[in-house]
Amino acid sequence: MQRKVRVRFAPSPTGPLHIGGVRTALYNYIFARKHGGDMILRIEDTDSNRFVPGAEEYINESLKWLGIEIDEGVREGGPFGPYKQSERRDIYRDHVKKLLDAGKAYIAFDSAETLAAKREEAEKEKKTFQYDASTRMEMENSLTLPPEEVEARIARGDQYVVRFLIEPGRDVVVDDLIRGRVTINSSILDDKVLYKSADDLPTYHLANIVDDHLMEVSHVIRGEEWLPSAPLHVLLYEAFGWTDTMPQFVHLPLLLKPVGNGKLSKRDGDKLGFPVFPLEWHDPKSGEISSGYRENGYLPEAVVNFLALLGWNPGDDSELMDMEELINKFSFDHCSKSGAKFDYKKGMWFNHEYLMQRPDDELAELFMPVLEEKGITGFTPEYVARAVGMVKGRANLIPDLWEQGDFFFRAPETYAEKDVRKRWSADTPRIMEELIGVIEGLPDMSSAAAEKEVLGWIESKGYHLGNVMNAFRLAVVGACRGPHMFDITELMPREEVVARIRRAIERIPAPAAE
Ligand code: GLU
Repeated sequence: MQRKVRVRFAPSPTGPLHIGGVRTALYNYIFARKHGGDMILRIEDTDSNRFVPGAEEYINESLKWLGIEIDEGVREGGPFGPYKQSERRDIYRDHVKKLLDAGKAYIAFDSAETLAAKREEAEKEKKTFQYDASTRMEMENSLTLPPEEVEARIARGDQYVVRFLIEPGRDVVVDDLIRGRVTINSSILDDKVLYKSADDLPTYHLANIVDDHLMEVSHVIRGEEWLPSAPLHVLLYEAFGWTDTMPQFVHLPLLLKPVGNGKLSKRDGDKLGFPVFPLEWHDPKSGEISSGYRENGYLPEAVVNFLALLGWNPGDDSELMDMEELINKFSFDHCSKSGAKFDYKKGMWFNHEYLMQRPDDELAELFMPVLEEKGITGFTPEYVARAVGMVKGRANLIPDLWEQGDFFFRAPETYAEKDVRKRWSADTPRIMEELIGVIEGLPDMSSAAAEKEVLGWIESKGYHLGNVMNAFRLAVVGACRGPHMFDITELMPREEVVARIRRAIERIPAPAAE
């Protein structure tokens, strides 16, 4: 019988969700939706030392912003809960006991000092110490101590860990949907710690396997950095007798630096000026603020599209795909084994494309906070929508709308020097005075009508069309840039247009006549 597709995204709340983690969540979600399956969000918080307040909320908010919907989770509930590992201690304790009873795990008392000394000793001989079949019988554990002593030590409160007993010399096979079959020898694995009495919590490996089994996870889709753990996981499934229902593994390729070699890091983002987090993050300890895609003016649909193509292709040359299309086209057959370069400029291109698709009123809404931040108020949503509609063609990110269209919201403070030199001559102030008269006399400010009148006036006077129009533009915009001049003046109040021409006459020093 075909198993129901059930996938999980299992982040640890140790800080903001990295963009690579977002991609993992996205692939899980797309795969689940494609197969009519369930998407689980499990919070893996068994490492209490690394817990960061606010991280879980951050994860929830990020997924929500991107449109990654969760079917079962801490907030959503579900039949396989609790979905937070720190609330599942009893379950893990029972499972650790099962392994101990079956002789597949053992208790170890070795102190941190003993282990450090062993490591040092090995290093002297240019070796590395590994707690495994070759060393475990020299250590302080339930394999070497009499059972009464083990019991006595536990009874008096000695701290211990439970280690997985790995049989050496076995071939361990991991089947991965992207990588195919990977075989490793069990001798290279150490007897991993599965549980620590000090905090009565399991380690990642045990909790992860137990939960994936109990939550009936069918596919484990996660980053490549977990591939080295997969053989251990396979052995854990075997030790529990769960091999038949072991999930299918899928290890996604790494996200690589945009330039050079190696894994994408926060430093790359800082250096080249792009975020590596979906949302802005305020570190509760250091107070450091890291930029986010949302706050930097990206649209969630652009981030989704961009991320989906980092490590996967649709098999044809389609690039712009919304979530529905991604779901339709997705398959692991077209995922690459090798890492994907994080081409953040391509991300901006996607954003531009999606920005062009958004209705102007929605863009205006997204642009409002930028205006507010500049202390600009009093413009109607309709005005803002028409303004952004005129300049969006040159914007990649929401704040670019300000770079391109600031003049719709404030008179120029300065005038571009180069344009002044080229377009503002000795008789420009006089011609601009005349232009004020023409504008004041216009029956209305509609673009086509104003254009006809103004151009008619220029022609009748024999003025130089380019010089007059550019001087006009300098006065209103502050530089020779921007959309069609009469579209700008159609939107602005007439008094404002007139006031700006006056201001330019006063402020721009006219060069002496030649
Ligand atoms: N808690 C692990 C993480 O933070 C989950 C890895 C997995 O998906 O197995 O990435």
